[in-house]
Parts: sequence; structure tokens; C-alpha cells
Amino acid sequence: MDIRIEDDNHHDLRDALRALCAEFPAEYHRAHGAAETYPEEFVDALTKAGWLAAMIPEEYGGSGLGLIEASIIMEEINRAGGNAGHCHGQMYNMGTLLRHGSQDQKRKYLPQIASGELRLQSMGVTEPTTGTDTTKLKTTAVKKGDRYVVNGQKVWISRIQHSDLMILLARTTPLAEVVRKSQGLSIFLVDLRQAIGNGMTVNPIRNMVGHKTNELFFDNLEIPADSLIGEEGRGFKYILDGLNAERTLIAAECIGDGYWFTEKAAAYAGERIVFDRPIGQNQGVQFPIARAFVNIEAANLMRFKAARKFDANQDCGAEANMAKLLAADASWEAANVCMQVHGGFGFAEEYDIERKFRETRLYQVAPISTNFILSYVAEHVLGLPRSF
Ligand SMILES: Cc1cc2nc3c(=O)[nH]c(=O)nc-3n(C[C@H](O)[C@H](O)[C@H](O)COP(=O)(O)OP(=O)(O)OC[C@H]3O[C@@H](n4cnc5c(N)ncnc54)[C@H](O)[C@@H]3O)c2cc1C
Repeated sequence: MDIRIEDDNHHDLRDALRALCAEFPAEYHRAHGAAETYPEEFVDALTKAGWLAAMIPEEYGGSGLGLIEASIIMEEINRAGGNAGHCHGQMYNMGTLLRHGSQDQKRKYLPQIASGELRLQSMGVTEPTTGTDTTKLKTTAVKKGDRYVVNGQKVWISRIQHSDLMILLARTTPLAEVVRKSQGLSIFLVDLRQAIGNGMTVNPIRNMVGHKTNELFFDNLEIPADSLIGEEGRGFKYILDGLNAERTLIAAECIGDGYWFTEKAAAYAGERIVFDRPIGQNQGVQFPIARAFVNIEAANLMRFKAARKFDANQDCGAEANMAKLLAADASWEAANVCMQVHGGFGFAEEYDIERKFRETRLYQVAPISTNFILSYVAEHVLGLPRSF
């Protein structure tokens, strides 16, 4: 069943994704969810088919597709019952390298990232003591000859166990010595195969979404000076440059979840008989499903607006942020409705609802929490004073 209203004319792309995802049925994702293991075979299949290299230009071995297509890939994974959170890093973390890396870095890394030989699934930004106040982060990278020496700590850094490389944001000039707090931060491409055990320690955090995320400790980790991406001191700007793509892709994942929840809710409401009639015949049951669907459709329009502007090289900060907020809210609403419609059965692992419910809840908080999207809109769209 395809309940979408808008026809986005990407039938071939969607059909190809659906065929691949169909090889990994609900039982597969359920088993990995229950065991908290990584869906290695699924991610491998996506990589081998080239889907995770969608946004890498053809000259570097990718398929050179736009954000519209990339977002459809993420949407279809979640819509099929999977969780693109296991692999979305490979899709967008390379953007920093592509936009700001040197020719040598791009030639060295991008073809291997495109083929899947190198996995760039991780990005280390968040820290335990400073949270969303990113410019106050305390991890430092100090240049010593042909190396940088890194000290500090990160938290919630995902997929380290399934990555060869990590984008790292660290302070290279002390906060007290810069004019604006956004200055003096730099981006590095860290080779995890060399770093772990040689100054970098990884502690997994057991968590509700069951996806591998970690605390990282850096104790005099030495990385080559040419790990620096772009200019020293401009890393915060480089991170911001990547946010619109990331937010639009995550919005698409939420939309995929939203369709999954509403389809599942509508199907169950149509077949579950209580008091001698389908529960979906009651307005108290059908209206919440209909409302959730309306909100997903609306969020979907904003997601495509953001992606279209991004692909046309237009500023899409407002649309990407709004798409992320609308889609995360819509998928969370749909998750609650789906859970409610299923009564007690929604809590049973075998219905997959409780797993998807936990997974989609993340997007109220990460990669950016809802409050900060509202702050963005208040400040940058409505011209209100900055609140933090
Ligand atoms: C499963 C998981 C995976 C993650 N993966 C990664 C990753 O790979 N890499 C990475 O770098 N990070 C990652 N994160 C971190 C994530 O991006 C942060 O958790 C998120 O940005 C929120 O930061 P915080 O947890 O420090 O919350 P805080 O900044 O401590 O905020 C806590 C709450 O207070 C609210 N708040 C704080 N200040 C204000 C204010 N001024 N006005 C209004 N509200 C405010 C926030 O909205 C939030 O709800 C992950 C997190 C999770 C849970």
C-alpha cells in the first residue's frame, strides 16, 4: 500500500530501495534491535549498491545525486521498518571533507568512502559538560611540529565501532584568545584504526535506541597535522555548513517512520474487531490516525522544499530546520497513535512498534533538540533577539 499523496516522480529510485529493503524483513531488524547488534549485512548491502555514496560526486566514485534523492533513500529505509540511523553518517559526514577538504584529501579519501572501503560513519562534536553550547567545548588540539595533540572528552558519539574515520571538532585556540567564541575551533579527520588504543578510549553507552553510541576520551592522542580539514580556526563554520543537509535527511527518516506508523495503525484499525466492529470505525480511533497522516504529509512538503532549495544552491536554513521540527513532531505523534491503536499488542516486540517508537523519539533531541530549532526560527526568520 502506498498512502502518500504527493507524487515525487522518483518511482525507479523508490522501487530499487524497496526491493533491497524487502530482503531484510521485519524479523531481521527486530532481532538486531532485541540483541542491540548492528545490522551489518543490511548496511553492507546498501553500501555495495552505492546508496550511501549518493551525494559523493561522480568524479570521486559516487553517484552525484542531490539531496532530494539522498533523502528518499533515507526515507525508504525507515519506511520499510529499518533505521537509517545505523548508516546515515556515511551519507552526510563526508560533506565536510567534500566542501572544505584539500584536493589531496578528497582524492585520498572520497573514492574509498564511496566504495565503502573506508567508513566515515562518525562525527564527534557533543561534550558532556557543555552540551549544545558547542563553542564552549573543552577538547583541545595543540599543534606540535607535524602533529596535533588532542586532549579531552566527547559523549554520544555514534557508530565508532562501525567506522574507520571520524570527523572531530576541537578547540585549537583558547576561548580567551579569540574575538568571537565561534572562532578557534577546528575540524580533523581522525583515523580511528590508529587512534583507538593510542590515546583514544571508547566506552559504549547502553541506551534506549539500541544504536551504538559512545563516550570518547582523548589522552594525548597524536594525529598527523594533515588531518586538519580546511583552515585552522574555522571548524565551527564548517560544521554549520553541513547542518542543512543533515537536518533534511533526518526529516526524511522521520517521514519514513511516520508513514510506517500510520500504515500500520490504519491496517490494524481496519481489521481489529472489538464490540463487533473494526475499531477503526470509531471516530475516536480513526481521527488521530488521520491527523497524524495529515501532519506527515505537511512535513513532507517542507522536506522537499528544503531539499529542492539545497540542490539549487539556495539558502535553505529555515526550511531545513522547519522540516526537521515538523517531521520529528509528526513521526512522534504517529508513533504514539500507532501504539495507542494497537492497545496492549503495541508493547509486544513482535509488532515492531515499541522498537520504532523508541527510535523515532530520538529525533526530538538529536542531532539538535526541538528548542534550538524554534530558537533558530525565532532569531533568523522572525528577527527576535537571540535567547541564548
Ligand atoms: C542516541 C544519540 C546519538 C547521538 N549521536 C551523536 C553523534 O554521533 N555525534 C555528536 O556529536 N553528538 C551526538 N549526539 C548528541 C546530541 O546531538 C545531543 O544530545 C543533542 O544535541 C542535545 O545536547 P545535550 O544532550 O548536551 O543536551 P543539553 O544541551 O544539555 O540540553 C538539554 C535540554 O535542555 C534544552 N536547552 C538547553 N539550553 C536551552 C536554551 N537556551 N533554551 C531552550 N532550551 C534549552 C535542550 O533543548 C534539551 O532539551 C547523540 C545523542 C544521542 C542521544
